[in-house]
Amino acid sequence: MPGLPDAGFLDERGLNRQHVFNLAALPADLLAPLAPTAHERQLILFGHAGRRLWECVQAEGLTSAHPIDEYSLRTVEHWLRRNLPETQARFVFPNTPGHQRIGLQRLGQLAGWHHPAPFMLGVDAKWGSWFAYRAAILTDTNLPASAIEDLGHPCPACTDKPCISACPGKALEGGRFDMAACHQHRLADQSPCALGCLARQACPVGAKHRYEDSQIQHSAAGSLAWIRAHART
Ligand code: SF4
Ligand code: SF4
Repeated sequence: MPGLPDAGFLDERGLNRQHVFNLAALPADLLAPLAPTAHERQLILFGHAGRRLWECVQAEGLTSAHPIDEYSLRTVEHWLRRNLPETQARFVFPNTPGHQRIGLQRLGQLAGWHHPAPFMLGVDAKWGSWFAYRAAILTDTNLPASAIEDLGHPCPACTDKPCISACPGKALEGGRFDMAACHQHRLADQSPCALGCLARQACPVGAKHRYEDSQIQHSAAGSLAWIRAHART
């Protein structure tokens, strides 16, 4: 099954997961918030898995508030210029007003990447939870649609479920994620998971792909700032 043209360029720069969807094959409710225009036929989803992307971001010494987004946008733009210079492409994630309306986990599920972990992130049998969505563009291309890449769901066979017992906020008990309990615990003084989810780090799957501490702390600081800004007092 052919992948994206020059996929090695993206792989080398840490955007090592890519999936091409035909818009006509996507569920209407997933597509509607993206408001595709008549000439837009495909959605290309870019993700990273493992440590390479953060190495690249650090190597460039980016100091902006959102260095991963900035790097991902620039890398995809570079790839487009190299390989599809005539293509009309519109970023729908990140960096667009309302991008939070894009169903990234649903796209990940359709791509085969996403299986739900108790701590609300996606997980698979190879990368564990150490992957994420980095960019999505709508294009006027006619590239071959990607095959589903399903690396397996490790949770059903995980009998001990160490992620659940590692959560000091008891947010994963009872078979559902208690977001309020999680946020409350992260906001507490001296919270051990303010700058990194202990449940996520307790999962043994894909441990060799675990992000560097500096990446974990960078991402957690962003989500903690969001929780602080939106917390009701
Ligand atoms: S520790 Fe087990 S149940 Fe928890 S995310 Fe990892 S594989 Fe799934
Ligand atoms: S951030 Fe803390 S409270 Fe929230 S799920 Fe992870 S370990 Fe539990």
